[in-house]
Amino acid sequence: MKLAARVGEVTPSLTLAIAAKAKAMKLDGIDVCSFSAGEPDFDTPAHIKAAAQKALDEGKTKYGPAAGEPKLRQAIARKLQNENHLDYNAENVIVTNGGKHSLFNLMLALIEPGDEVIIPAPYWLSYPEMVKLAGGKPVIVQTDAATEYKITPAQLRSAITANTKLFVFNSPCNPTGVVYTPTEIQALAEVIVEQDILVVSDEIYEKIIYDDAKHISIGSLGKEIFARTIVSSGFAKAYSMTGWRLGYLAGAVELIKAVSTIQGHSTSNVCTFAQYGAIAAFEDSQDCVEQMRLAFAERRQVMLERIRAIPGISCAPPNGAFYLFVNISKTGLSSLEFCDSLLETQQVAAVPGIAFGADDHIRLSYATDMASIEKGMDRLHKFVQSQLS
Ligand SMILES: *Cc1c(COP(=O)(O)O)cnc(C)c1O
Repeated sequence: MKLAARVGEVTPSLTLAIAAKAKAMKLDGIDVCSFSAGEPDFDTPAHIKAAAQKALDEGKTKYGPAAGEPKLRQAIARKLQNENHLDYNAENVIVTNGGKHSLFNLMLALIEPGDEVIIPAPYWLSYPEMVKLAGGKPVIVQTDAATEYKITPAQLRSAITANTKLFVFNSPCNPTGVVYTPTEIQALAEVIVEQDILVVSDEIYEKIIYDDAKHISIGSLGKEIFARTIVSSGFAKAYSMTGWRLGYLAGAVELIKAVSTIQGHSTSNVCTFAQYGAIAAFEDSQDCVEQMRLAFAERRQVMLERIRAIPGISCAPPNGAFYLFVNISKTGLSSLEFCDSLLETQQVAAVPGIAFGADDHIRLSYATDMASIEKGMDRLHKFVQSQLS
């Protein structure tokens, strides 16, 4: 069978592949410590499940508007106004099948052949693939520990060409856990406005931040940057709703209408009764978010201390999300060799940094229980020691 050329352009998701291998080993009865998960390990809060259950019982099981239930679009707009200081109404918002779907549809609505999209590396692995599927050209800007893995305004400016359409900004960042400061975001916003490009701000980890880090939405920094901003987010990470497939995109009405048309011919509306769970997530108590954040904070501390006690590997200072991005360059192994060997010899699953455009790193997720973290770090310590001796 001759497949479309675009399929050959993209690489399958490596994070999903490793997580699947670790799961299969577990099913075989092998004692695997998995740090590969890109999802919270908590159950969805009970009041959110109850709201969806109630909607199901009430017969909210039919087709709805492709852009989402009006009540949910309103709840999202209200949240963006009150918490993020973004002047959006319901018509500026579309409900999608997850943050991933938001970004994919945005690329379809915006990117034409020849358009360049600037993506700082390390990046979330789906960004470049989505750009390619839409026919655009990902322009990767490498960052490193010297700037805490943050793109600088000078780097952004020099990556911009006449073909640049969009800059993909992700703070808190997956995979590095890095959170940009308000001053740093302001400086990037100035370049975006000056060069008149668009920015999509992926804010899916906005609620999962630590210490004195503060989340601000780049679009809240003035009228000019607001006009050039698109916000992508979802319910998966903050509310532990990964399997629900619920996200949203917010931006200019013209763009949201275009995305709505695309959804109207592809997925149609997101599962109707699931959307009622999302309404409850935003409108009821936010205590569940804080409880999960505190659990992550504790695990992060333990994992960070354990990593820092292992000679030969080092870690960026993470202030958000639930990942540590660990530099393994001193082991002399590629990230794929490191992760394969770690899984084979110590039954510890991690994600190779090459998936995120950084082959001298691995990503460890601490969205797992403390006992697994302790056990897994013992094993990692042993593994690194064996590589360096
Ligand atoms: C998890 C994630 C998303 C979206 O996840 P969905 O499950 O599709 O909502 C988007 N961006 C980043 C950086 C993520 O880690």
